[in-house]
Parts: sequence; C-alpha cells; structure tokens
Amino acid sequence: MTGTIFDIQRMSLHDGPGIRTTVFFKGCSMHCFWCHNPESLSVEPDIQFFADRCILCGRCQEVCDRYCHSIDQKTRVHDFKRDSCTKCGKCTQTCAAGSLIKTGEVITPEELVKIVIRDRVFFEHSGGGVTASGGEPLLQSAFVQRFFAILKQQGIHTAVETALNVSPESLTAVIPFTDLFLADIKHPDPDRHRSATGVTNELIFGNFRILEQSGRPYVIRVPVVPGVNDSETVMRALSTRIGSLLHPLYLELMPYHEYGLKKYNSLSREHSALDALHPPSKDTLVRLAKCYDTVKVIFRDGAKTVTVSGGVLCEKEEP
Ligand code: SF4
Ligand code: SF4
Repeated sequence: MTGTIFDIQRMSLHDGPGIRTTVFFKGCSMHCFWCHNPESLSVEPDIQFFADRCILCGRCQEVCDRYCHSIDQKTRVHDFKRDSCTKCGKCTQTCAAGSLIKTGEVITPEELVKIVIRDRVFFEHSGGGVTASGGEPLLQSAFVQRFFAILKQQGIHTAVETALNVSPESLTAVIPFTDLFLADIKHPDPDRHRSATGVTNELIFGNFRILEQSGRPYVIRVPVVPGVNDSETVMRALSTRIGSLLHPLYLELMPYHEYGLKKYNSLSREHSALDALHPPSKDTLVRLAKCYDTVKVIFRDGAKTVTVSGGVLCEKEEP
C-alpha cells in the first residue's frame, strides 16, 4: 500500500494538542477559492518554482532533458516553460536555493511511521502526537487507517484535519484509530457552500452526525473568509445548524490569511479572486464568535488564544 504526501511539518502547535508532526496528504475533493495550500489540490506531483529564491546558478538548466529552464544572465531572468515539463523532479534535486520544489512523494505507511516516530520524545513530553492533514487525508482513508493503526500500537496520539467531503465509509474506516478530529464547515447554506467550494454541504453535515454518534472527540473549524461567511447572519445560521451537535469540544474560527499567495505564483496558477481578500480583524472575529450559543468558540490572535463562551471573552498567552 502507498499514499501520496506533499509535506511533513515537525513541531506543529496548532494541529491538535501538544507538539505534533503534521503530515500533509495530496489531493482534495473541494475547490475553495481561498485555499492556502494550492499544491495540495491535485493528487499528481507538482513542480513549484519560487522565482524570488532563484540565484541563477543554472544547474536546473543543465539537467533538464526537456529544456524547460532558460536563464538569461544579462537580464537576470529565469524562464520556466511549465508546459514541456514531465514533473520528473531532476531539476528540483539540483536546486540548492530551494527555488524548485517537487510536491508529491509516494510512500508506504511503514516508511512514514519511521519518519514521524523520530519526534516521539516531543510527543511524550507535551501530550502531542501525529496529525494527518492535506489536501483531504480521508481521500486516502485506507492509507491513513493503516498509518494510524501502527501509531496506536506504539501509543501515539492521532488526529485528522478533514473537510469531511468524503464518503461515510472513508470516515468510519479511520474512526477507531483516530483520537481527535478537526473538521471544517465553511457555510450553512448548501448553495452558497457550493458556489464557494465547488460542493454542497449535505455530505459534510451527514459526516458530522457520524462523528457525533461515534463518541470520538471532535472540534468544528470554520475558516472565516471575507465576503463568504464573515457576517453575523451567516454565523448565526451556522450556529443553528450545528445546534443539534452535542459533543464538539469547541468551535475554532480560522481567519483567512495571505500566506498561500506566493504558492499560487510558484505553480503559475490564477489567483485574482484573492487579490481583494484581507484577513478579518480581531473585532470582527469577536463579533462572529459571539453568534454561537451552544458551543465554546476560540480563535488565535498572534501568540494569544481568545475564547468566547456564554458571551464572556477571555485571552490567554500561549506557552
Ligand atoms: S537550480 Fe535553482 S537556483 Fe539554480 S537556476 Fe535553477 S532554480 Fe535557480
Ligand atoms: S521536473 Fe524534470 S522535466 Fe520538469 S523542468 Fe525539472 S528536470 Fe525538466
């Protein structure tokens, strides 16, 4: 069995409790226009080219059989002809500047366990563990199931970050091996959800009910995207829709951020829809957090965690 991943981040602090190693799986079943991981969308490998990191050394030009790279030392311009690229990755191995990166590595669950287990000492001292993220990790549910089964045998805490737009079978397969779910919902209205993400939300709410019935701990995560769901009307409607869910640990508002913009350029992808988007202010987030009656709401503000519960606001510095 193999899976396709595109990154492994060590020392993560916001993907579940404690210090975590987060594995990013490639492939997604949604197309949120604000996605900050555009390299995750396709399950196929991608070649990212960060022009601002290029030192024009010319090594990539020397190794590419397809003549995709041409470097003009006079004008100091590096032209990458993506259309001719077979994504073999040869040039990325020669680029010491980190300007060319191949995203998408095929790996077995056993190989992945060997990598993440290196940080066991951090997990043990912080109450942390391993998180599967993406992309949508549950599109590779059988792989995650096997990966987590081995980690559970070794006593390691496991968490999944998911948008829940997957078959109920894919979700139920991993539930016995997952200690915590961090599950997204973007909009309460099915049509608005489809126009923002490409899919309706009925499957997602159905999967929330499966999580609820399973008794596994879960957190509801709501990305706050200007013009999509950053109004009190939308948040109150979402509060009503999730009102029948009795057991979420809390709801986390995840403000839109601009860190993904450079990645769109690195993949030569269009991102004009993002140019007018700016992160919501703290005041907006407090206002939106107060729309929820039945669940504690948190969001992060720099190094602080802000909690709103029963209309009462509390701020705490992160350790
Ligand atoms: S190998 Fe990297 S740094 Fe050198 S020219 Fe190619 S992209 Fe630029
Ligand atoms: S990935 Fe392969 S084909 Fe594509 S530019 Fe690099 S060396 Fe050339």
